[in-house]
Amino acid sequence: MRRRFIADIWNARTATLTGDQAVHLARVLRAEPGQVYDIVAGGFLHRAEIVRVSESEVVFTLHEELEANAALPIHLLLAVFKFDHFEWAVEKATELGVGIITPILARRTEKHLAQASAKRVERWRRIALEASKQSRRTDVPAIGDPVSLKLALERETAAARILLSETEQEVSLTAALQARGDVGELALAIGPEGGWTPEEMSLFTAHDWRHVTLGPRILRAETAAIAAIAIVSAHF
Ligand code: SAH
Repeated sequence: MRRRFIADIWNARTATLTGDQAVHLARVLRAEPGQVYDIVAGGFLHRAEIVRVSESEVVFTLHEELEANAALPIHLLLAVFKFDHFEWAVEKATELGVGIITPILARRTEKHLAQASAKRVERWRRIALEASKQSRRTDVPAIGDPVSLKLALERETAAARILLSETEQEVSLTAALQARGDVGELALAIGPEGGWTPEEMSLFTAHDWRHVTLGPRILRAETAAIAAIAIVSAHF
């Protein structure tokens, strides 16, 4: 995803970033004239080209307006659980804007569900397509084939990796997001109805996933997924 900034000052043709944003662009990102960023100006997202850079202001020319309802850079690793609930989770995650969903065969995913899941993927993809249309998304989330947790963790590329854990008692999702500040791509893992096993929890830790809680109540997996996506999207 291209870096996105919100303009401090704008008109129909130009947008200007000032203050910390200008300092960040000039010093940290070493912005230069000619570079292209995505800028939100007056609530609309534009492709925009830098025309002038200083540490007090960065001025852009606004180019075409972009569809602002594309996917959120969220990868949802969703343990396979009872299919009717799982389908509901796929639909809601799509409406909320998740970019990628990977069904995970967790230790406590019931055997018959694990076995039947490979044949269910097509149905999940259709559900995601319908939900994308219904929610006026401009893209459809990618739904991967069901994989073991081990494989999914090895493949994960998101820098921010968050495990929703019903046993975590201290770090809330909000606190973890605030501690990270600006996040790019983010992976979120939700366990099956029986929860994650201790071995799975250790595997997450070994792959540097942050364990977080959504509060003291035990939520259904699909509820945890929806709540977590909503909190993360508010942070983006
Ligand atoms: N069987 C377990 C609950 C599993 S809930 C028990 O009764 O103890 C299914 C999944 O939802 C969990 O693995 C976790 O990913 C998520 N979840 C549920 N409640 C949560 C909470 N309060 N905080 C964070 N994640 C939660």
